[in-house]
Amino acid sequence: MTKDWKTRTQLVHEGTRRSQYGEMAEAIFLTQGFVYPTAEAAEARFVKAGEDEFIYARYGNPTTRMFEERIAALEGTEDAFATASGMAAVSGALTSCLRAGDHVVAARALFGSCLYVLEEVLQRFGVRVTFVDGADLDQWRKAVVPGTKAVFFESMSNPTLELVDIRSVSEIAHAAGAIVICDNVFATPIFSRAVEQGADVIVYSTTKHVDGQGRALGGVVCGTREFIRKVLEPYMKHTGGSMSPFTAWMHLNGMATLDLRCRAMADAALQVAGALEAHPKVTKVVYPGLPGHPQHALAMAQMGSGGTLVTFEVAGGKDAAFRFMDALEIVKISNNLGDARTIATHPATTTHQRLPQEQKDALGITPGLIRLSLGLEDAGDLVADLTRALSVA
Ligand SMILES: *Cc1c(COP(=O)(O)O)cnc(C)c1O
Repeated sequence: MTKDWKTRTQLVHEGTRRSQYGEMAEAIFLTQGFVYPTAEAAEARFVKAGEDEFIYARYGNPTTRMFEERIAALEGTEDAFATASGMAAVSGALTSCLRAGDHVVAARALFGSCLYVLEEVLQRFGVRVTFVDGADLDQWRKAVVPGTKAVFFESMSNPTLELVDIRSVSEIAHAAGAIVICDNVFATPIFSRAVEQGADVIVYSTTKHVDGQGRALGGVVCGTREFIRKVLEPYMKHTGGSMSPFTAWMHLNGMATLDLRCRAMADAALQVAGALEAHPKVTKVVYPGLPGHPQHALAMAQMGSGGTLVTFEVAGGKDAAFRFMDALEIVKISNNLGDARTIATHPATTTHQRLPQEQKDALGITPGLIRLSLGLEDAGDLVADLTRALSVA
């Protein structure tokens, strides 16, 4: 039977497996191994494991499998593989399909650890990587050549919320025969339309919106059954980056409210961005959901939303930015995102501290820049907290 479930129904029910007890809530199978009734059954399972047959939790587990099926249905891919962290997903997706001599084109504005994998790890093993300005399609056209094996980008960059046009970059990549790997964390699985826009492999750090409450580290790779089970799974299951069943269970719980949470966060982001734009101590507001944002039309076409983060610049540089942050009461100073709690980050001195100054300048990471990840508090309370703290800055 083919199901025609809408997002919220999928988020509550998809992938659920019930044991002989008929438990309502998803069970956590905290077991690494599985018992076979006979030696013959063990042998048969190692030859080919059926749908509900498991061998070892590093290969798969009933709770983890529920999570994989639920998020694959949400993303609209045939399959998914759950990983121990977002970085296990990113490095697994890349390493599993590349070999020495291959050529990769990647957007330059990347999460620090993603940059490390591309610049340090892959190049050390003989993969050639060309970096481009992700928003400049001409640079993609020049860099992607026949034989390029993969392109990699974050669909919305951190912290300046610049969008990569997934549809156009996918067309360029596919014309050259390259696979499109999209780190879609900032877009969230709710606002993602990456599959219909041409991405082949979609990667999430589920540490962010999927967990949504800052508890668990996790990740997932979504793609075709061929890629997930034939390319990625052998690599992941033998190198050890699989998700813990406990994390999968927390994520399954989190997913029931994922749509509600992401939409509430995006509503708050729009309201806060509007209030910040009107504030005299704010010199710049970056939120793709604002009509004046240069990529507003692309954001609406690609995500139908501006997302759940807002970046802005406080007048007066680092000192003013720090005074502002230290005066916050509701908003917490941290570096996670997608949490129920609104979080303020000062990228120049924390997440992007190690970048050389010229790279910070190129990425627009100025001393007064603040990244806000909107949480689930009352948006009016957040505006009041931010406005009051700005008056101190
Ligand atoms: C957080 C993040 C990652 C890494 O995820 P972890 O769960 O921390 O390993 C990768 N890419 C992006 C865009 C992220 O925001």
